[in-house]
Amino acid sequence: MKNNFAKQIVIFTVISLVCVLLLNAFVMPQVMKPKVKDTNYSFFLDKIDEGNVTKVKIEDNEIRFEVKADDGTQIYSTGRMDDPELVSRLHAKGDIVFTEDFQESNIFLEFLVGWVLPIVFFIVLWNILMRGMSKRMGGNAMSFGKSNAKIYVKAQTGKTFADVAGQDEAKEALVEIVDFLHNPKKYAEIGANLPKGALLVGPPGTGKTLLAQAVAGEAEVPFFSISGSEFVEMFVGMGAAKVRDLFKQAGEKAPCIVFIDEIDTIGKKRDGNFSGNDEREQTLNQLLTEMDGFDGKRGVVILAATNRPESLDPALLRPGRFDRRIPAELPDLAGREAILMVHAKKVRTEENIDYNAVARATAGASGAELANIINEAALRAVRNGRKLVSQTDIEESVEVVIAGYERKNAVISQKEKEIVAYHEIGHALVAAMQKDSAPVHKITIIPRTSGALGYTMQVDEGEKFLMTKEEALARIATLTGGRAAEEVIFNSYTTGASNDIEQATKLARAMVTRYGMSSGFDMIALETVTNQYLGGDASLSCSPETAARIDYEVNALVRSCHEKALKILRENVGKLHELAGFLLERETITGEEFMAILNKEKATVL
Ligand code: ADP
Ligand code: MG
Ligand code: ZN
Repeated sequence: MKNNFAKQIVIFTVISLVCVLLLNAFVMPQVMKPKVKDTNYSFFLDKIDEGNVTKVKIEDNEIRFEVKADDGTQIYSTGRMDDPELVSRLHAKGDIVFTEDFQESNIFLEFLVGWVLPIVFFIVLWNILMRGMSKRMGGNAMSFGKSNAKIYVKAQTGKTFADVAGQDEAKEALVEIVDFLHNPKKYAEIGANLPKGALLVGPPGTGKTLLAQAVAGEAEVPFFSISGSEFVEMFVGMGAAKVRDLFKQAGEKAPCIVFIDEIDTIGKKRDGNFSGNDEREQTLNQLLTEMDGFDGKRGVVILAATNRPESLDPALLRPGRFDRRIPAELPDLAGREAILMVHAKKVRTEENIDYNAVARATAGASGAELANIINEAALRAVRNGRKLVSQTDIEESVEVVIAGYERKNAVISQKEKEIVAYHEIGHALVAAMQKDSAPVHKITIIPRTSGALGYTMQVDEGEKFLMTKEEALARIATLTGGRAAEEVIFNSYTTGASNDIEQATKLARAMVTRYGMSSGFDMIALETVTNQYLGGDASLSCSPETAARIDYEVNALVRSCHEKALKILRENVGKLHELAGFLLERETITGEEFMAILNKEKATVL
């Protein structure tokens, strides 16, 4: 790096000197020399007679003379004639000076303008350039900005493994890498090679970037971080140049860590298409080459993060490159609780907050969403003029994240409110009357900014990793319960069930095509999930005839569940009226209140 800097100074100095020389050779004579006009001899004689000539210099072939005019003086040049009377003619005008030094230029001025000023100018320019550069490089002016790889050191990310909760397996794998960078000897003695690269994969918001920053904080080695999109430049070839430069810098700084975030931007599978992105392929090729060129023992570890591992080029994933995969999955119950607590430490909370309850209500939430929930809770506390975050704040903000803010002043007619109340109680009642269904936690008919006019929240007691067929069917029945209640009470349909329909269809479809839970098909994978971390889109892999049969099976499944829901509600129509009335009056009721009314007299459990 130092070396590089010296080279730049030399280059800059040479350029400056060449500029100054050129300036002096070509430009200065033009600027500095007084303009000399050619004229003829008789003009010279006329001027002498007029008495306007002030100075004369006589050379072998040329006469130079200065004529004074109204606006200063002008120098002329004329050829020398054989004119013996010239001298006496000049003497006749007594005040003409014969001079050798015809002040064609001012030596001092010339030196100043030709040499001193340009050099001063270049020094100032250099200073400005360096200052601008050091600002852009974050205080590090040494590297002449070819890549934007930033150097992170411990103080800069300020994150440690303590900031990452729940990702214990990922942390374990990364701790090993940090340890290797601290004492490579320990590993060398036994002959162990550490993986050259580790790939963090997982859905968005699970803390991949955070983990890498924590590694930077823990490992007291330089940490180069660059985002995949930064490689994709406007100029062709720049991406590859950046990769080269990044690895060159890393090589100089070893042991160190290089982190490439969102690597799928450059690491996409190369395909034979003509429309392929040349620039991206060049960048990827360069990356592959650089990763091969590294001696694992030198202590450069490459971390990368992506949420689309399946789209990465296989060459990138083979052993010797990113040979280790570190999954950052959505947190489980304990993980969610730990993440909530890590973020709650940053805000002032009341004592005895039940994080476990919050964690149970947020199944499927990512770390980023949980962090957001705590922040929303803190904002709510401030809005309500309180100094501490309470349990209610957190629970309310869970709902904000799930369903949006409450629309307190939304105007909804009494008739519609009634429909919504029956709809929600329909869900809750169907859920409560089936033993394979999660308990009801809360029912509300306060509209939300997401467009929901109300919702029923169910919270499982513990963590569930598997879903039985019975549970899946109970879930579909619960989803159809809202519409079923509308049918039973009002004998009509509204558009309010669209979201329920979507969810029920999705689950029923997965039961048929992926879980082998339908009577019509055996254990056949009719669909494959294409990107598991980004929404889990699935693509059909079967004949059109089978696709038609799938639709038929899905419909049959949902219909049977729907009929079951209708049956439950018809048998408990008294409870349905009672509960809906209570909800209409209160707008929000808890699971306990719901169960209390339900259990007042024994209802039939199916
Ligand atoms: P991604 O996996 O998409 O890179 P990030 O690392 O950017 O996710 O996470 C975004 C934010 O979510 C983090 O800054 C952090 O506040 C929070 N977060 C995510 N996972 C965790 C976790 N396991 N522990 C604590 N905070 C987390
Ligand atoms: Mg990220
Ligand atoms: Zn509904």
